[in-house]
Amino acid sequence: MTDQSTDSTKILHWQCAGCAVEYPPGPQPTGLCPICADERQYIPGGVQRWVSTEELVASGLQVEFTHLEPGLTALTCDGVGIGQSALLIETANGCLLFDVPGLITEAAVQYIRARGPLLGIVASHPHMYGVQQQYSQAFDDAPIYVASKDAEWVQYSSEAIRLWDEPFEVATGIWLHQVGGHFMGSTVAVWSAGAEGRGVLLAGDAIFPVADGNVTFLRSYPNRIPLSAAVVRRIAAQAGALEFDRLYNNFSGTVPSDAHQIVQYSAERYARWVSGEYDALT
Ligand SMILES: [Zn+2]
Repeated sequence: MTDQSTDSTKILHWQCAGCAVEYPPGPQPTGLCPICADERQYIPGGVQRWVSTEELVASGLQVEFTHLEPGLTALTCDGVGIGQSALLIETANGCLLFDVPGLITEAAVQYIRARGPLLGIVASHPHMYGVQQQYSQAFDDAPIYVASKDAEWVQYSSEAIRLWDEPFEVATGIWLHQVGGHFMGSTVAVWSAGAEGRGVLLAGDAIFPVADGNVTFLRSYPNRIPLSAAVVRRIAAQAGALEFDRLYNNFSGTVPSDAHQIVQYSAERYARWVSGEYDALT
């Protein structure tokens, strides 16, 4: 226990120790984290644990920054949450945070501030909410865009949250689209200036790079729960209407080029398998 957590007069910012998603400041939450208790996730060790942001910071954990390509940086934090890789996109007018680290540090705030105002915060889906309110508060209550279909999963709300449904340009040259699948509101972003102007798809884990250079689509990654052929074809049709050549997910996965075509090929491979077309091979 740290000094912060033993001082009963201090307001702590609570997070689920499993997924790192934040809860309202105040008394330690009780019960289970609904995000981890859901069938798409799991409660590590079967025991719900909570941690405060203050404890995480005091333990010396840091947000690491990895340059991916001009204007795009990955923010990771080993030992916090489920190992997600958040992405910071720079535009001429400021930055967008797509997916959110499970930790905020003064160094992370300074890094982002040096790249212009934070125009908005977007999680691809609820596993990626991280400490989005704390990032918003550190940047003048920057708007947090939440897919309305997933609003029930937000554990710490505020007036910074903007619910949305229809595709829109969240920052100059960056469009958000809900493709669903993994979560009903699973969101991807098209960054048109990325990949030397050929376009980048920030896919969260709606569309997930795999070992052979293709991609997959799952309701649950840790529990390997599939989606139906119809849903995967729907996602592919939506992605097919977007312009991009490179894809990044939220776990440091990438399809460096030809991603548009690879998504179509992979979706068809997947749909044929889950619809029984190849059952004779099993
Ligand atoms: Zn959790």
